[in-house]
Amino acid sequence: MTTYNAPIEDMMFLYEKLRNNKNYNEIEKYKEVTPDLVKNILEEAAKINQNIILPLAKSGDENPTILENGIVRTPPGYKEAYKKFIEDGWTSLSCDPKYGGQGMPKTVSAFFDEMISASSLSFKLYSELSIGAYNCIHHHASDLIKDKFLPKMVEGKWSGTMCLTEPVCGTDLGLLKTKAVEQSDGTFKISGQKIFITSGDHDLTENIIHLVIARASDSPTGTKGISLFLVPKFIVNNDGSIGSRNGVSTGSIESKMGIKGSATCVLNFDNAVGYMIGPKNKGLNSMFTMMNLERIVVGIQGLGISEIAYQNSLSYSKERKQGKSNNNKSNNSADLIIEHADIRKSLLNMKSIIEGERALCFWLSQQTEVSLYHKDVKIRREASDFVSLMTPVVKSLFTDMGMEITSDAMQIYGGYGYTKDQGIEQLYRDNRITPIYEGTNSIQAIDLVFRKLVNKNGDVIKKYINLIKKDLKINEEKIEPFIKKLNKNIEVLNKFSDWIKEKIKSSKDDANAASNEYLKVLGLVATAHAWIKVLEVSYKDYENNKKFYEEKIQTANFFFNRVLPRVESYYLTATSGSKYIMDFKFN
Ligand SMILES: Cc1cc2nc3c(=O)[nH]c(=O)nc-3n(C[C@H](O)[C@H](O)[C@H](O)COP(=O)(O)OP(=O)(O)OC[C@H]3O[C@@H](n4cnc5c(N)ncnc54)[C@H](O)[C@@H]3O)c2cc1C
Repeated sequence: MTTYNAPIEDMMFLYEKLRNNKNYNEIEKYKEVTPDLVKNILEEAAKINQNIILPLAKSGDENPTILENGIVRTPPGYKEAYKKFIEDGWTSLSCDPKYGGQGMPKTVSAFFDEMISASSLSFKLYSELSIGAYNCIHHHASDLIKDKFLPKMVEGKWSGTMCLTEPVCGTDLGLLKTKAVEQSDGTFKISGQKIFITSGDHDLTENIIHLVIARASDSPTGTKGISLFLVPKFIVNNDGSIGSRNGVSTGSIESKMGIKGSATCVLNFDNAVGYMIGPKNKGLNSMFTMMNLERIVVGIQGLGISEIAYQNSLSYSKERKQGKSNNNKSNNSADLIIEHADIRKSLLNMKSIIEGERALCFWLSQQTEVSLYHKDVKIRREASDFVSLMTPVVKSLFTDMGMEITSDAMQIYGGYGYTKDQGIEQLYRDNRITPIYEGTNSIQAIDLVFRKLVNKNGDVIKKYINLIKKDLKINEEKIEPFIKKLNKNIEVLNKFSDWIKEKIKSSKDDANAASNEYLKVLGLVATAHAWIKVLEVSYKDYENNKKFYEEKIQTANFFFNRVLPRVESYYLTATSGSKYIMDFKFN
């Protein structure tokens, strides 16, 4: 079984030393969220994750969720753990105090998301979609609906889902067939089938609140005719008590490659009572509130799984002896595999990506809070543009890197990584869904290139690059070599952005075939930017924590020499165009 130690030291370093975004610090309500308070939260979070949730990873993998006589049963241990989880208030961490939440900012809840993703992604998913549904209801529903549904969701007694996918519509939601027929009392009757619904049914909560997209009888075809509905598993009476069963049933649950403890359900809606959320035919806009925040959280899933894969690979490399390293001149005994340059390179590759991603995510969390709560609307808008630009990047880069890192972890373990005992192959299988759900990574890249890059005349990417350049004006000689390397890659990003913008006009296939590479280039530049911020503190504060900062500087050195240069090759391959791809005749 894998082990896990929550990386509190690194998290606290970010919270104490990199929470220096002026706009973020102007948000009044977060002034009380002191480092001491955050440290306490993280220490408690580490305890429940390491002691209670981590063991559920193996239990869920070996005893997948089952559908038995119409009831979806979660794996052994889930019920007890979930009870403790909600008693300790973890579902309410980032929710509005008005509905019973603790009102913690994303700068804190993202750390919790990382820990629980590392411990057991399957278990996490039961509360994750609830928070997503909570956010959507909180933003778009009437006060009546909010008062009726949110307190129980915040408490964790009721959970939530996101019901978009149908047999014929995954990426292309305009094809959806689920119907909504308006009733004389203003409610709707929802009928249709949804598939692949995470936590669609289970035995952990008293009620499940489905957020369902459907087409009203008089709405147009395509995405312009989609509305959003709240459909509870059990009808909720006016006094808040649970009433009769609604017309929602579980057809089956999926047998999957990974996250086997998570219930992925086929749900049948048969004249189920639904309440419209937000304006008619604007359902996708409302749903995007949920999906955008969710996409960042899926990126964090990749980060969490990468961290546990790294920690276990590091321990194994310090135990396993094989072969002799190049520096061993004696004739006897084998060395620990951590002595081999190739293994060390793999470990540093993981570490430099993970710590860079964590710092980038922390920057993005601050921007998210600014975009939601800063009092100046102009500042809110600018932050919102950055969040919108970076959301597909974080979702895709972190989850793709999660595949690279879990695969490398398996390689470090050799045959023991491929067999089941050590739990390493499970990390690879569990992570494999993250580049697929919440919109595949290719769809994220297409969204970045065809929408985010050209929106507002391509202004956002220019602003983002200017923001990075401003941050590079650092008066510290030792950072110069890093800054020089980043500047070189910013030039590549600039050239690549111009190439893509031109291709969107002249050859959409060229732009489409280059979109994944473009996303990676932007992601690597953004991660390098985050590393520069880490380096700035590391040199400034060096004497106060030499060992920690020396490790940071050396890890950054690896990132800038071994990871960042991938930018050039992505650029070269992508700008070779698509003619030879599109002209090929597949037989
Ligand atoms: C375990 C699991 C949990 C899930 N949880 C949920 C959930 O809770 N709620 C929910 O609603 N859904 C959920 N999903 C569904 C998931 O979001 C979809 O599977 C995903 O969005 C992709 O849709 P699809 O499977 O229909 O693939 P398709 O849309 O058929 O795509 C197939 C391939 O074509 C590519 N492609 C599609 N369109 C384009 C295009 N325009 N340009 C270029 N390439 C394109 C895609 O990138 C992909 O590689 C879940 C799925 C799984 C497996």
